[in-house]
Amino acid sequence: MAASNGSTHSAFWQNAHHYFDRVYGTMGLDPIWRDYLTHPKRVMTVSCPIRLDNGTIQTFTGFRAQHNNALGPFKGGIRFDMGVNIDEVMALAMIQTWKNALVGLPYGGAKGGIICDPKKLSLGEKERLTRRYTAEMLPIIGPHHDIPAPDAGTDAQVMAWFLDTYSMMVGYQALGVVTGKPVAIGGSVGREDATGRGVMNILRKFLATQNKTLADVKVAVQGFGNVGFHAARLLAERGATVVAVTERSSGIYDDTGIEVEAAHNYYRENGTLAGFADCDEISNEELLTCDCDVLVPAAMENTLTEDVAPHVRARVVVEGANGPTTPKADEILQDNGITVLPDILANAGGVTVSYFEWVQGLESFFWDGKRVQDELQKVMEKAFDEVNAKADQADCDYRTAAYTIAISRVAEACRLRGLFP
Ligand code: GLU
Repeated sequence: MAASNGSTHSAFWQNAHHYFDRVYGTMGLDPIWRDYLTHPKRVMTVSCPIRLDNGTIQTFTGFRAQHNNALGPFKGGIRFDMGVNIDEVMALAMIQTWKNALVGLPYGGAKGGIICDPKKLSLGEKERLTRRYTAEMLPIIGPHHDIPAPDAGTDAQVMAWFLDTYSMMVGYQALGVVTGKPVAIGGSVGREDATGRGVMNILRKFLATQNKTLADVKVAVQGFGNVGFHAARLLAERGATVVAVTERSSGIYDDTGIEVEAAHNYYRENGTLAGFADCDEISNEELLTCDCDVLVPAAMENTLTEDVAPHVRARVVVEGANGPTTPKADEILQDNGITVLPDILANAGGVTVSYFEWVQGLESFFWDGKRVQDELQKVMEKAFDEVNAKADQADCDYRTAAYTIAISRVAEACRLRGLFP
C-alpha cells in the first residue's frame, strides 16, 4: 500500500510511528533501541480456506503481528473487518505494546485480524473461519506465549471457538490461551463492558482535575459497538447527558439526552438508529463536530482527521477507539486548547480486564463483578494519575506523557534483558 509521500506503508502505520517518533526524539533515550522498539518481532500471514454454506470454497487472509514481548507474553485482540491489512495489524500491535505497558500489565503487544465482513458470514462460516485461523496460528500462540482477545467484529462466541480449537489441538483445556470468553466457559464477569467502563473511569478522573463531574457534561459517542455502547451507557448512568451516538451508517442527536439502552435495543431490532424516538438524524461526520463538551471517538482509526479537527466543538476528546486521531488533527486540537485523552490510556480497560480473566483462568479461581470493577478502577486511576503527573512535570499534552511513560518502561525492559545472542 503506497502512501502519497513515497513510503510503502499505509497512512495509519505512519501515524502510529509518527506518535512514537515524536516522543522518542524528546526522551533522551539511547537511539540504539529505536529501531528495535518500532519493529515487530514477528508477523505471520495465513491463508484460511473454508467451505461456505453454498458449497463453494473461499480463501480468507489472516494476520498476527507480535510487536514486542520484553514485558511478558504477547497480548492483543483479533479483528474481523474488510479494512484489515498487514500495516494495520502491525500498527495496532505496536499501539498495544504501549497500552499494556502504560497500565502496568505484564504483557507485550500483539494484534491479529482476518480480512472479511463478519456481517456477511453465517454463524457456521464464521465458526469455520475462526477455527481455521486458530489452527494456522497454533505455532505462535499459547497461554504463556501470545493471548488473543476480541476486537472490532469479534466477540465472546468467536473467543469460545478459539479456545475450543486450541484446546482440542493441544489435548488439554487451556483457559489462558484467549480472553474475552463467555463467562460460562472461563470468561471474566465484567469483561464485556470493561473498555467502556475504563473510558468512563478516565473521563471522570480528568473532569475531577477541572473540578467537574460527569453530570456537568454533554457527550457525543462515535461508534455503538462494544466500546461505544457501554461507554455511552455507563456515562449516562453516572449523570452525563449523552446527546449523540452514531454507528457505521446512522446516528441520532438529542440535546436533552438520549436513552442509551433503549437506543441500543432499537438498533439491535432495526439495524439502524434512524427513526429512534424523537431524535434528529445525524451523520458520523456531523457527530464529530456537534455541540457537546466531550467527544468519544469509539469506532475505527483515522476518523478524526485534519479536515474535521478545526470544527470540533468539544473541549475534551476521549479516544475509545485505537488511533482515531491523525497526527495533524491532534496538533489542531492542541492548538485549539482541546484536551485529548489518548487511546493507550482511555481504552485500556478492555485489556486490563483481559489480564484479570487470564489470571483467573490460570488460577481457576473466579472473582465477582464488584472485585473486577474495583480492581479495574484502581488500575485506570493509577494510570491516569501517572500520566497527569508526567504531563504537569514535562509541561506536555497527555498523549506525549502517556507515550513517554510507556516507551520508557518497554525500553528499560529491553535494556535489562539485553540482546540474544
Ligand atoms: N482489542 C482490545 C484492545 O484494543 C483488547 C485487547 C485484549 O484484551 O487483549 O485493547
